[in-house]
Amino acid sequence: MRSSSPTPTSGCFSPFKNIFGRSSSSSQRTASSSPSVEKATSAPSYQPSARAQQLAGDLHGCCCSGVTPSKNEESWEGLPSYESFVSDDKVFAPEVRQTIKEAILSFDAPLRKLSLYISDHPELNYQEFKAHEAMTSYLEKEGFAVERSWGGLATAFKATFSLKGDGFKKERTFGINSEYDALPGVGHACGHNLIAISGVAALLGVREAMRKHSIFGTVVLIGTPAEEGGGGKGALIELGAYKGLDACMMLHPTPGPLNSGGIGSSLAVQMVSVEFFGKTAHAAAAPWEGINALDAAHLAYGSVSALRQQMKPDARVHGIITDGGLAPNVIPEHSAMKYCVRSPKAEEVTALLERVVNCFEAAAEATGCTFKVQKDALYTDLRNSTVLGREYTSAMGDLFGAPIKAQPAGGSTDFGNVTYVVPGCHPLFSINSPAGSGNHTIGFTDAARTAEAHKCTLEAATGLAITGARILADESFANEARSAWEKDMRSA
Ligand SMILES: [Zn+2]
Ligand SMILES: [Zn+2]
Repeated sequence: MRSSSPTPTSGCFSPFKNIFGRSSSSSQRTASSSPSVEKATSAPSYQPSARAQQLAGDLHGCCCSGVTPSKNEESWEGLPSYESFVSDDKVFAPEVRQTIKEAILSFDAPLRKLSLYISDHPELNYQEFKAHEAMTSYLEKEGFAVERSWGGLATAFKATFSLKGDGFKKERTFGINSEYDALPGVGHACGHNLIAISGVAALLGVREAMRKHSIFGTVVLIGTPAEEGGGGKGALIELGAYKGLDACMMLHPTPGPLNSGGIGSSLAVQMVSVEFFGKTAHAAAAPWEGINALDAAHLAYGSVSALRQQMKPDARVHGIITDGGLAPNVIPEHSAMKYCVRSPKAEEVTALLERVVNCFEAAAEATGCTFKVQKDALYTDLRNSTVLGREYTSAMGDLFGAPIKAQPAGGSTDFGNVTYVVPGCHPLFSINSPAGSGNHTIGFTDAARTAEAHKCTLEAATGLAITGARILADESFANEARSAWEKDMRSA
């Protein structure tokens, strides 16, 4: 028998308008959420910076990435710089950048504590109860309006801060994502403890900029469970968590030299499970009376392995056997496998999945088993906004001298799904794990606990927060991001 579930459950700056020109003292504002709002003390302006004047103005660069495998410094040197997207000799209000940088640094100690706590308590898909409790408690203590278990997802949350203006201008909403799930056996080997605090840091930074510089609008941190295979963001999208956002961003650690990072696409991936059903028999006394479900899994695994030589170089299929029987002297009546099918585009994944399922079917036919296919989470490719990426790159270069490189596609992320519903960007920041210790290795788990990795995280969060503050403050920038996204969606 063959069945499948069709429904995946589940990843140039224009002249600045006068939005900052009004006097902060003449602005009437109230916080729409529970947090109190301090008086704005100064309004930001646009000024050229020394760094900005150094930036090249050509626009021929392109980007393409996700979490990449472990790599050395030499391979980074050969990649084009994302700075090639920066075409203007002015940067977004330098005083706002400075405010955000200082604000985030002031939370260094509690954020470090939160990161290590999450690392010390690794939790899997949709079971991130300790991380959820720690993060929401901290955000409540910091005065944000927190919605625990958002949308009925036990370990999801939202934390919001709003600053209302005079009501004459449309106010925007900027979203940030935090992840905090771990991997079986290797703990926080994808560094999601750092992603968790990067979101909190960016939220704190944007709030301080809004308060100090009269930037009106809303910033919201969405706590997103189950990135490692559970499709948490796909579930949140279906629940409407991203409705009303003008842009959304998150960060991810990756191997590489300190004080650098990258932006690029990622592979679309379809998770799929297969079960084979046979018949038990005594494996020595009457094996001819059995139907061996483990043999079906074995043949399926071999067939998929043979399929690889006819796959495109940028596609990936990999899987495990999750059930291979109960005892060696009993012919297994049941076996089960899980696979990931990846390709640069979702439509290519669909075509490749069909060939993989053919392998399952042939294995069932050969052994006399029946089988059942269950499609699980679908993560789309990642459509990074070059407009958001440009501002992030400018800020990271301006404040930290950090080069942001264009990245080739590597892994996959359910943030890809987010970029199909709202302009989004998913920069990677390097944490200098040991050679051969990339994401999903125990070496990366350890690297994500170091003081150096923590420092890199806060710096990257500063770049994210600056980009978010500009979405809220600069109407032309927000419109540019929206237009570029709409154009990209037409060709996606
Ligand atoms: Zn991962
Ligand atoms: Zn990850």
